[in-house]
Amino acid sequence: MKKQFADIAFPTAVRQVFTYQTRDDSIKPGMRVWVPLRNEFAIGMVVRVHDQKPEFETRPIERILDSEPIMNETMLKLTGWIHKFYYCSWGEAIQAALPVGLNFSSEKRLRVKKGFKGEITEEELAILKEIEEKSITLKDAEKRWRDGKGKTFFKKALQHGWISIWEEPRQKVDFRKVKHWQIKDGIEPNSILEELSEKERETKWVQAFEKLTTLDLPIPNIDLKEMDELFTNYSLNRIEKEGWIESVDLPVKGEEIYKGEFEPDKLNRLMGEQEDAFDQIRDALDSKEFKSFLLFGVTGSGKTEVYIHALKHTLEQGRGGLVLVPEIALTPQTVKRFYQIFGDQIAVLHSRLNEREKYEAWQSLKSGEKRIAIGPRSAVFAPVENLGLIVVDEEHDNSYKQHDPAPRYHARDVAIMRAHMEGAVTILGSATPGMVSVQAVKEEKHTLLHLPMRPTGTMPEVIILNMKEYKSAMRGPLTVELYEETQKALDRKEQVIFLYNRRGFASFMQCEDCGHIPESPESSTSLTYHKRKNILLDHYSGYSRRADSRCEMCGSTNLKTKGSGTQQVEEQVQELFPQARLLRMDMDTTSGRDGHQKIYDQFLSGEADILIGTQIVAKGLDFPNVTVVGVINADTELAFPSFRAGERMYQLLSQVAGRAGRAEKPGVVYVQTWKPEHPAIRYARTHDFRTFARHELHQREMLMFPPYSRMIVFQFKSPSWSKVQQVADKFCDAMRMVVGENPVMGPSPSVIEWMNGQHRWEANIKLDRKYNAAAIEKLLDTIFKKYDTIKPKGAGAVRINVDVDAVE
Ligand code: ADP
Ligand code: ZN
Repeated sequence: MKKQFADIAFPTAVRQVFTYQTRDDSIKPGMRVWVPLRNEFAIGMVVRVHDQKPEFETRPIERILDSEPIMNETMLKLTGWIHKFYYCSWGEAIQAALPVGLNFSSEKRLRVKKGFKGEITEEELAILKEIEEKSITLKDAEKRWRDGKGKTFFKKALQHGWISIWEEPRQKVDFRKVKHWQIKDGIEPNSILEELSEKERETKWVQAFEKLTTLDLPIPNIDLKEMDELFTNYSLNRIEKEGWIESVDLPVKGEEIYKGEFEPDKLNRLMGEQEDAFDQIRDALDSKEFKSFLLFGVTGSGKTEVYIHALKHTLEQGRGGLVLVPEIALTPQTVKRFYQIFGDQIAVLHSRLNEREKYEAWQSLKSGEKRIAIGPRSAVFAPVENLGLIVVDEEHDNSYKQHDPAPRYHARDVAIMRAHMEGAVTILGSATPGMVSVQAVKEEKHTLLHLPMRPTGTMPEVIILNMKEYKSAMRGPLTVELYEETQKALDRKEQVIFLYNRRGFASFMQCEDCGHIPESPESSTSLTYHKRKNILLDHYSGYSRRADSRCEMCGSTNLKTKGSGTQQVEEQVQELFPQARLLRMDMDTTSGRDGHQKIYDQFLSGEADILIGTQIVAKGLDFPNVTVVGVINADTELAFPSFRAGERMYQLLSQVAGRAGRAEKPGVVYVQTWKPEHPAIRYARTHDFRTFARHELHQREMLMFPPYSRMIVFQFKSPSWSKVQQVADKFCDAMRMVVGENPVMGPSPSVIEWMNGQHRWEANIKLDRKYNAAAIEKLLDTIFKKYDTIKPKGAGAVRINVDVDAVE
């Protein structure tokens, strides 16, 4: 039977695919097409070709945009799974999986209609001519004729139909080129320089030439100007006139990431438990069947070494590998380690590549030229050919979950699904695995591999400083003890790191006398303080009460609301240690090019004595001269209104502890807290993850939080406060009609109630963990259908986002 129809996915929020007629036998799934959609044209992706005639009239495909599929069957299947599981459109999932350069995109252009009628002046005719000749885009036209006669005529021409608007597919690949300099063919710089007289060699432009010959060419004109005053326009033109150099236009290069040296001989031999772990991974690889491992080991226990050996074996099998890391900029050492062994077989997919480089990296993998991809979240879609292994380093990291826009996918879970589809092996690595993965080990979905010891060094000591005991013994934000230890370290010419938490947006209440933070009686999470109504709110269950005026624990009236913008820790620390050189690292100081690396290098080279910053200092850093690490306000993390607050706290402390004392000098971590008895703090102190996990899982089970349930969060957003509330109410009604009262929670205002002109409410539902992609899709379809029958008037003004397995 001839296949006459194609299902096309579009990158819009509409979840359906649309069926079109095909005129061409060569059409295959994975090709992009240009098709009519409502009154316009749009790019879509063919996801299925078939012979089932739909009941409705089908329109034909206008144009096929690819000669070969740009997405293979597995990636279509994987995006199809994301479409169901994360309840987004298939097109949105496909869009996320393609490099920007291949993304769906089009632009509106103008065309002049032939044989138009009507009065027209010479001037106006000229405008039409310009439009016709340049096939100008609508955007440019609106800029070009923004005012005066031009604008009037432009409007008139559109109204009369003299010009029409066309939509054209557009390749977004950035092929922008800039001027580079290189030595002209046949020129031998050395012999030229030798022939010059002493005097000639002293001229600025000859010196510029001499310097130029020592550089890595061709080099962008702009870079030269920034590099040295010698490179003036005059001198460069002068050298060019001499016929020694020439300019060429080449594509702009993005930021280079420092990859280090290629020294494949430096592969370490695995030791003890590493070897046992690797043996199991190798057997799984050899079986060519899906298997997943949880590689559990503290920082420095040798996990990366195991990844490297596993990758090496994968390559030897003739298969490719994928390494996911939380963020390339934060893990330069990891990239270096892989580069050292695998060199140019690696494509590094970091976020600072420009569009063209992303596209090229993608192509180099697709063509099989490169066989390993390393990158953050979106690299899970890298088109590695014949995939054998996926490593997810720091598998617990929240950056693996995409929050906005859709698809709201979790890269770790997508990685597991992809490996499943391709018969590959996954290794999830962490010192503090997420509870989801811990539970999966218990259920025998992952095989646990444990690296118990670090080959070098010992675990740093963690000392808990109970704030209740130091109330009258504080130096600014520091307890006397931390203050004194810091002073001693500085006297010994050692370095200190201070970490303070600044989860800016959630406000909470805390008793200044006993440190108590009110908790919800329903979900045991911290209550959020909402100033406008002066209430305390549990945004899971919707429970709320008037803000307390007395502490429920000690009766004190000394209650403070805390939250955003209350930190002046940096200035206070500087006052305490006026001689010390301070360096600050947070989102503000690291946003620029290389920001993070620069601060890292400065601190490593001893240009500062104290590094102070937010959670970001806890990530991926290794400073041998740091002997004191102080966590200034551990409780802010615990106050975060999330059932994961404890898990986060443990992860943070464990990461911080991993930073200190990695070299010969033993380090000490001081944690200032009002809640020394909290399990996250108690067990982090003894590096006892297992006991912590047991405790945490027990807590989750009692309240049926993930991993004992699958939680779907619905967020409602609109500029209209009353509409948001009405829609959220009705939506919850619909949910309750479909699934009953029990698993539905909410609605309630979001933790951030109002943002970017939008009021935000949310609700959530806890489903049985067994709900798979098909079941989730079916349930949500039913809920939305029910909601459609009862939704309030004007509901269209409210956006409803669905976030499956949300991570707040
Ligand atoms: P992790 O990834 O768990 O933090 P790493 O793999 O980075 O641990 O190991 C920590 C340090 O120990 C690194 O400097 C690494 O080179 C070294 N190391 C780990 N395993 C070995 C080994 N088998 N032989 C020699 N050095 C090792
Ligand atoms: Zn109190």
